[in-house]
Amino acid sequence: MKQTLNVWEMTLSRLDSTISVLDLKPGVIKYLREPRRVLEVAVPVKMDSGDIDIFKGYRVQHNTNRGPAKGGIRYHQDVTLDEIKALAMLMTWKCSLVNIPFGGAKGGVVVDPGRISKKELENLTRRYTYEIINFIGPEKDIPAPDVGTNAQVMAWIMDTYSMAKGYMVPGVVTGKPIELGGSQGREEATSRGVVYTLLSALKVLGIDATNLTVAVQGFGNVGSHAAKILYDLGFKIIALCDVTGAIYNKKGIDPYKLSDFIKTGSLVNYPEAEKFDPTKFFETKCDIIIPAALENQITAENAPSVKARIIAEAANAPTTPDADPILKDSNIFVIPDILCNSGGVTVSYFEWVQGNDAYFWSKRKVNLQLRDIMENAFYEVYDFSIKRKLDMRSSALALAVSRVAEAMKLRGIYP
Ligand code: GLU
Repeated sequence: MKQTLNVWEMTLSRLDSTISVLDLKPGVIKYLREPRRVLEVAVPVKMDSGDIDIFKGYRVQHNTNRGPAKGGIRYHQDVTLDEIKALAMLMTWKCSLVNIPFGGAKGGVVVDPGRISKKELENLTRRYTYEIINFIGPEKDIPAPDVGTNAQVMAWIMDTYSMAKGYMVPGVVTGKPIELGGSQGREEATSRGVVYTLLSALKVLGIDATNLTVAVQGFGNVGSHAAKILYDLGFKIIALCDVTGAIYNKKGIDPYKLSDFIKTGSLVNYPEAEKFDPTKFFETKCDIIIPAALENQITAENAPSVKARIIAEAANAPTTPDADPILKDSNIFVIPDILCNSGGVTVSYFEWVQGNDAYFWSKRKVNLQLRDIMENAFYEVYDFSIKRKLDMRSSALALAVSRVAEAMKLRGIYP
């Protein structure tokens, strides 16, 4: 079946169906559906060739009722404004669900970062920052890494912003290098959060966490760290894939060895596993599937062939709404994105707090606090789902939306 809905429309349709379980006035619903601010910029970049190229960039602030807008910046060739609007809205729900004092935002630039030089990437980042400079700031909107960006990109954003202000403003971004006020544990925080929610899911489902098999889609920051943390805990990583293809080994793949191999080769040529058709990735016979790449991966088309018992949504919006009832009918337990991958923004919050206090925590403290927040959020969602007889996704969304609606009600509408 061909997908006719785009990710923004899908995010709105999910919101609409969840809102029906909440007692909200039509005006509140209208308010929650709209992004508060949308900025589109043209980013001119001096390329290595000496010529100028223009890249399209966006920053969307969906909601700021619970605090400053917060969310990553994505560099990807398929970025669209609708995608960024959807991801900004998901950030609002994510921050609300883990109860950290932020609203939601997202940024993006239409670029394939692998196809431009480091200098061009720096020029692009600095000019994009300049174009959105009045939009962002430690009290109003705080970017972070997302697909295609990393700590180095955050360092350039921070430096560009600080040069314009005339003094160093580390709080303007999170996910910075540790040397510039980044937090211990931030790089692997999303993956660690995924694992904490997964371990909680195994507990409530009464599944023994030994000898479980895992397939991870995506071997970027989130996928590779999730595979490594699970491998260290004794899970067997039997299938992995990235843009180069998919690999399988029923005896298990060592993600550390794979990471080393990828420094010079590509995942699909890893000698200690066999290649298989990546379009069949979600059919892998395993206990747990972790989509850790992009949106719209599990659809009505491939959902009937999913054999895993648990899907841990490390990516944002990896499942389309028409796949949800199919997964439910197959009794597959879904840990929804806004719960599963909220560890990243949670440690971003810790980074922001540490920066504001100019007092930095140990990695142990970061991980303990993260675990506490993730487990609390998981059990809140799970208890709500049992009490209201709802699936995990609707429960997560309902809890998150109700908190934002409450904040909005308390603040009222200006003037
Ligand atoms: N890009 C990450 C996400 O989608 C982290 C955002 C942040 O730390 O602000 O959750």
